[in-house]
Parts: sequence; C-alpha cells; structure tokens
Amino acid sequence: MTLHDTMSDVDARHLTKGVVVSVSGVTKQYDSGTRALADVDLDIAEGDFVAVVGPSGCGKSTLLRMAAGLERPSAGSVALATDSVGFIFQEPTLLPWRSVRANVELVAEIARLPKSERRTRAQRAIDAVGLTGFESQLPRMLSGGMKMRASLARTLTSEPEVMLLDEPFGALDEMTRLDMQTELQRLYAERGFTAMFITHSVSEAVFLANRVIVMSARSGRIVADTRIDFPYPRHPELRYDPQFTAYVAEISDTLREARQ
Ligand code: ADP
Repeated sequence: MTLHDTMSDVDARHLTKGVVVSVSGVTKQYDSGTRALADVDLDIAEGDFVAVVGPSGCGKSTLLRMAAGLERPSAGSVALATDSVGFIFQEPTLLPWRSVRANVELVAEIARLPKSERRTRAQRAIDAVGLTGFESQLPRMLSGGMKMRASLARTLTSEPEVMLLDEPFGALDEMTRLDMQTELQRLYAERGFTAMFITHSVSEAVFLANRVIVMSARSGRIVADTRIDFPYPRHPELRYDPQFTAYVAEISDTLREARQ
C-alpha cells in the first residue's frame, strides 16, 4: 500500500497495522462557528464495512469528507493507508451527454489509461453492476436505480481499496434501494474493498455492514460501535432473521437516545 495522509502533520507510522482509515481525536468547527464533530476516534480495519448512522446534522458527511481528505479537522488527525479511494455520493452525477459506457470510462480516461484498457475495465464494471445491454443509453433514459448502478460502475473501474459512500441510496424508492443494498454487499464480498458508508437507515446499515457506528446529535461523537456477525454474501431474506431484527432494535434504541 502506498501512503497518503490527509493532514500534513500526521505521521503515518502511527497507523496501527491493518488499519486503513484512522480518525484520531478529531474535532471540526466550521468558520460559521458550527461545531460538527467533537473528539472523534475511529479506526477502520482493512476489509471492514463500516456503516455510520446518526441524527441529521450530527456530522456524518463531515466525517466522511475528512476521510476523503476534502475537509481538514480543526483538531486531531485523519490518516489513510492508501490513496486508492473511490467516492459515491447521493447524486449519481453522470454527464448527461455521455452514454453509460462513456460515463463509466470517465475515471479511467482522466487517469489516461489506454483506450483498450478503459473499455475492458468499463465493460467489467458495467457487467458487475448489472447494466449489460445498456451501454449506449444516455442517463436520461435510465431509472434512478440504473443511474446509481452506473455511478457505482464508474467508481469500480479504478478498483479502489477504500470506498467512501455518502447516503448513495437515499434518493431511491424502497424496492430499488433494497436491490442496490444486495448488489453492493455482493460487490463487497467479491472484491474485498474497505467501506465507510453513511446512511439514515438502521436496517440498511445492519444489512450491509460488519460494524455499525452510532453518532450522537451535534456535535457528533461516537456513542456505539456494534459488530454485525453475519457472513457475506448476505441474502435479502436475512432481513427476516430474528438476530437481524434484534440488531436493528438495539441500534435504533441507541440512536433514539443519541438524538436527545
Ligand atoms: P450529517 O451528514 O450528519 O447530516 P453534516 O456533516 O452534513 O451532518 O453537517 C454537520 C453540521 O455541520 C450541520 O450543522 C451542518 O449545517 C454543518 N456544516 C456542514 N458543512 C458545513 C460547511 N461547509 N460550512 C458550515 N457548516 C457546515
């Protein structure tokens, strides 16, 4: 792994072996005076799928943007053990004049990979997200779920070691959302990337993650950290498992307390 830290004063040798994302004593105060995060510590191990839930405005996106290096902490440090990072945001942000294939090729194009390599990677990613046959379509011809699949495929072409996802399925209807959850954890099980996933939905968090973090209302702190002991790949019926329901109930209770 190469080394990339999001803060110049971070000494990466302080990263514990096997830790890919390390957030240490992080406080974030915006110029407006809003204190979004207060003394947050979070280590994410290689291969972990960490979901972060918390009340609106508690600083989840701020935390993710910091892991991405897009935001600097006011105090504390954030370090990443790799610069192979992919982002997925709530909006699929496809270029409307480009076909699905041309959109998916974009990351490889910017990285100046040879055309044949771009094609191969794009096709592999398109097949992986179930968009085979839609390569020539323009984004406006796609449903919300298909646009999100294209967005996922575009990120997968760079084969990231770490995936940072900020409520990627928040704008989708319920059924599409459940399909996308199945799809994402299948890709995770196949490819073995490390994931940090922000969501409002406790059941989404439990279905996807092997670790669910609950944050308190602003200024966000971590108030619970629960291991989800289900093997991957996970099947949609898992949601009817009594243990699944128990996890959802426990985390929802913590979240309810965290809002106060
Ligand atoms: P969440 O993702 O949990 O909803 P955010 O991280 O988006 O929370 O925001 C946390 C708090 O910080 C909110 O009160 C929000 O208004 C504020 N905030 C977020 N980004 C900025 C910014 N760029 N400038 C000032 N305040 C911000």
